[in-house]
Amino acid sequence: MLQSDLVSDPRLQEYMLQYQKRVQMLCCSKCHILLCTKTAIAHIQVYHSALQIKISQSKFRDICSELNIHESYPSPKELYGIDALSGLNIYTMALVCQHDGCSMICATGAAMRKHYQKSHIKKGEHLPTKWAVVSAQKLDNNRHWEYFEVNPPSYELEKPINYNWIDNLESNLEEVYSRIALDSPDP
Ligand SMILES: [Zn+2]
Ligand SMILES: [Zn+2]
Repeated sequence: MLQSDLVSDPRLQEYMLQYQKRVQMLCCSKCHILLCTKTAIAHIQVYHSALQIKISQSKFRDICSELNIHESYPSPKELYGIDALSGLNIYTMALVCQHDGCSMICATGAAMRKHYQKSHIKKGEHLPTKWAVVSAQKLDNNRHWEYFEVNPPSYELEKPINYNWIDNLESNLEEVYSRIALDSPDP
């Protein structure tokens, strides 16, 4: 099952976090981003303050050390090219810089132009007009915006898992539609 790299641990659920087993990191169930032990508590306190989640620092540290959660982020280069991670958003139209092995990923053309201008352009050179498109995921949405390229999940594999659910949905829809058709008088 594709979801198996994302583990729901009841102890983490009270912090709205899940355990991303494959990269040994935490994942915010609301924002769908990766967090490490250094950023998780601050993330909950800053971005989900409205939920007033009570955090016991020592309890949290114990869970993290038991699950071997990384203390800080890996570099995007370390994650480059892995299969998409469950629990994170996938950006299927991310742009990648192909200048001399740079492989910086940006979500928008404007961001990419800015990066290229700042990092690669020499006097008299022009900005490229086209960028390569890849699938990517993001490490964090606090201040540490870094994308890494991933292999998109295979949707052929995912379908059978959701089959029952889709069947139910379809039969429910049919029921709703037929009810509407019966109730509304003919013009
Ligand atoms: Zn969050
Ligand atoms: Zn670049």
